[in-house]
This record gives sequence, C-alpha cells and structure tokens, in this order.
Amino acid sequence: MYLTMAKSTTVKLNDGREIPVLGLGTYARQGKSDECRLSVESAISCGYRHIDTASFYNNEDEVGLGINNMIKEGVVTREEVFLTTKLWNDQHEEAKVVPALEESLKKLGLSYVDLYLIHWPLATNADGSSSDIDYLETWRGMEKCKELGLAKSIGVSNFNLQQLERLLSNCKVIPVVNQVEANPNLTQKKLLEYCKSKKIVLTAYTPLGSMPEIRDRTKAPPAPTMDDPILTAMAKKYNKVTTQIVLRYLIDCGMVAIPKSVTPARIAQNIDIFDFALTPEEVKKIDEFNADFRVVAVAVWKDHKNFPF
Ligand code: NDP
Repeated sequence: MYLTMAKSTTVKLNDGREIPVLGLGTYARQGKSDECRLSVESAISCGYRHIDTASFYNNEDEVGLGINNMIKEGVVTREEVFLTTKLWNDQHEEAKVVPALEESLKKLGLSYVDLYLIHWPLATNADGSSSDIDYLETWRGMEKCKELGLAKSIGVSNFNLQQLERLLSNCKVIPVVNQVEANPNLTQKKLLEYCKSKKIVLTAYTPLGSMPEIRDRTKAPPAPTMDDPILTAMAKKYNKVTTQIVLRYLIDCGMVAIPKSVTPARIAQNIDIFDFALTPEEVKKIDEFNADFRVVAVAVWKDHKNFPF
C-alpha cells in the first residue's frame, strides 16, 4: 500500500531530480550493532524510498548493506532509492572532498549517492579545532563530485540565510537542499520562505523536536509533548497519533522530513501520513508552538567564525 504512495510523494529539486518528502533518519549516538541495517530494511520494506546518513554517523556500511540487501531481494532497484550522505567538517579542503565521497561510497557499497551535503558550514581540523577553510572552497569540491557523477545532486546542511545568500552569489551549481532542524518549536519560517524563493528544498531534521522520550525536556519549551491537547485533538480527527500530525505539518509547510526510528512499528507509522492533510488553520495553530528552540545547538562550535546559529 505504501509503495505507490511513497513513490508518488516527491518534490522536484532545482536540478530536475525528485526527492521523496518523507525519508528515514539514521543517526544514533550509541546504535546497537545491526540496528541501523535492520531499520533501513524495515523502512524500505514498508515503502520508504529516501534514506539519510552521513560519514559522521559511522553507519554508512550498515545503511549500504540494508539498501543492497533490499536490492538483492528484488524489493527495490538502486534507482528507486534516494540516498543522502554528508561531508564531515574536517574534509572541507577542496582537494579532500572527492576522496571523502569516494570513501563514503566504498563504505556504502554503492557507485553514487543521490545527494551529497556539506554537513556544516564550518571547517575543523582533524583534532576538532577550528579551521579557516571557506565553505565556498568546499563547494567547488562538491561541484566536482556532481561533475564526476559520484553525487547526482549536491546541497548543504545547517547553513543560515546569510551563508546561503553568499553561496548562491558565488557558485556554479545551486544547492538543491538545505537540511536544517525544523519542528513545531523551530518552524524556520524565514529560512523556509527564502529557500522557497530560491527553489532550494528545506529538509527538516529532528522533525519530532523535543517530543521523543530520549530528549532532555528540562530546557525545552513546555509544549508540545507527546500528549499535547492541541495535537491530540487533530490526531483524533484524522485517526492518527500526535507524531504523525507533526510530520504531516512539516510536509504541509512545504518541507521534506526525515524522522529517525529503529522501531519497526514507528517506522511504519511515520510514513503513514499520506491519506490526510492539515487545514491552513491547523497549520497555523501548530506554527504557534514556535519558540526558536533548538534540540541540536552544538555549543561546542559557538566561537567558530562560521557558526550558523
Ligand atoms: P527525530 O525527531 O527523528 O527523533 C528520533 C527519536 O524519536 C528516536 O528516539 C526515535 O526512537 C523516536 N521516534 C521516532 N518515531 C517515533 C514515533 N512515531 N513515536 C515515538 N517516538 C518516535 O530526531 P533525529 O535527531 O534523529 O533527526 C532525524 C534525522 O535527521 C537523524 O537521524 C539524521 O539522519 C538527521 N539529522 C541531521 C542533522 C544534521 O546536522 N544535518 C542533525 C540531526 C539529525 P526509536 O529510534 O527508539 O524508535
């Protein structure tokens, strides 16, 4: 049932390719062995056609194995899966970008990725200390990845509006995506409008915000929680649960969302959002949760000259 839905639910990128609006996130700080591979297989089996990873997640081998297993079993073809990976901060030197992607591809066991992103606009040295390398230099390496066919599309992540503007005035290839945190506590209205005006898709990471049980709620805004009354009323109306309402909200705002789960029932639940849509009034109600609050605040880089937040 999800197969046709997942396939048809895509948005066009500015380079003519398409990205499924719902993908599987795969980042786990302390993932158990095999957990990530199983989550990828479970996701593809229930209709996901978009998987998000990064060299930093240290799971490209498992993600690739999961995808290749599903291809071998005849569940999907390589062309049907949209795979994203990301360049880590200590590989920003122009000459390092292509080799970094080649290394990722080796781990993935694939010959190309659909989307390659600069993970952060800030460069570091191998020991984590700040480096001065400009993301404009890094972008030239990304353009080379596309030219070589190693990445079908290229984009960025965690870029703020000014950084995007500067990149757009100094590039040959326009990024197709900016992947940033977005959820009811961080609705990203300004950045989203800017991205739309430049035909850049905004992909929402940490789409469930502070709601999941693993989050530290002590600093988070009080709402929404899993049992928030506003979201619960909407969930009841559409015969859904509150997390599905939040994911649908992001898509109804024009974003792509990449919820992470290693739990098969949640993986299936998170993509079961294509048989309803929120009304503009409901979207507005959820907009009101905005508190410009970030789950992913990475204070460790706050003194870096290219720190985006
Ligand atoms: P999410 O908002 O996807 O939340 C993940 C957590 O929510 C997990 O603990 C998961 O538990 C739980 N969960 C998932 N679905 C449900 C559900 N239906 N009901 C209840 N709980 C649920 O946060 P992430 O930070 O993982 O973001 C998603 C993805 O975005 C990442 O995995 C990564 O791929 C990407 N990302 C990118 C970043 C960047 O800098 N570009 C930064 C951060 C994330 P469980 O797995 O146990 O089921």
